[in-house]
Amino acid sequence: MPCQSSEELKELVEEAKKHTPNGRVASYIPALGKANPNDLSIAIYYPDGRCISAGNVEQEITLQSISKVISLALALKDRGPDCVFKRVGMEPTGDPFNSIAKLETMAPAKPLNPMINAGALVVTHMIKGDSVEERFERLLSFIREMANDPSIGYSEEVARSEFETANLNRALCYFLKEHRVINENVEQLMDLYTKQCAIEMNCLALARIGLVIGMDGVDPQTGEQVLPKDIARICKTFMVTCGMYNASGEFAIKIGIPAKSGVSGGIMGAVPGRFGIGIFGPALDERGNSIAGIKLLEMLSNNYKLSMF
Ligand code: GLN
Repeated sequence: MPCQSSEELKELVEEAKKHTPNGRVASYIPALGKANPNDLSIAIYYPDGRCISAGNVEQEITLQSISKVISLALALKDRGPDCVFKRVGMEPTGDPFNSIAKLETMAPAKPLNPMINAGALVVTHMIKGDSVEERFERLLSFIREMANDPSIGYSEEVARSEFETANLNRALCYFLKEHRVINENVEQLMDLYTKQCAIEMNCLALARIGLVIGMDGVDPQTGEQVLPKDIARICKTFMVTCGMYNASGEFAIKIGIPAKSGVSGGIMGAVPGRFGIGIFGPALDERGNSIAGIKLLEMLSNNYKLSMF
């Protein structure tokens, strides 16, 4: 079903767009620096298959940190919660997403949660498969199933750009390896992780994945449980407590929905039992969240009483 453009959403997008000049496109991954800082688009996907949108929702964006929710879901399916949470914690950090600081002061050196880079690297390490190709294909099929879109792939350009410049993530990996939290070749893990972050889709597909998570893992159109209910619950909880990095507390108070952002400017929202949201606005605030995307969500949450709290 094609997505219907909505006048109401368009007005909110125009209002939220006023904030884009206060943000900046991420450039530490050089390929992301090419994005247009003035872009802002949104799609909302309902359980009955209806979809409304505003802005250029056809545009493909890379998932970046949004992929951390899905890799976590797959690792939990692969290994079960006991095994996963032996290696990564459940607590918010209050630090930037790429911080190494807490790792050094924690004993054992276990990353605090799966939504920060250190934790996500451990999670990706736990995805099963005999090769990077097999592990990546498994992640990709899982994502395609949730989005109901077999055409989803990844941006080789963005993956390569991050692979060539990811010194900080490599440092995190070596630290984790030194402390035996991971035992994989670091270049191999970086290859898989940068491809995972470069998985590409439009806001519509992003909204559909948010919908499935918000519907407790059930694809509302096929009735199929694509994600076990318990895993969907864990994902939603991490999205609330850690999904917007060190802005998660303020986001919970002002907006109050499970959401996950990425440095490409994407935000995936999962309004429990109601709908999924996909947003793209590459101008970021100082914590790395889409500056206009958050404003847009704030307006939506106020207008439609979305807060779960
Ligand atoms: N690929 C990015 C990184 O590891 C993802 C970070 C993000 O979106 N916050 O730096």
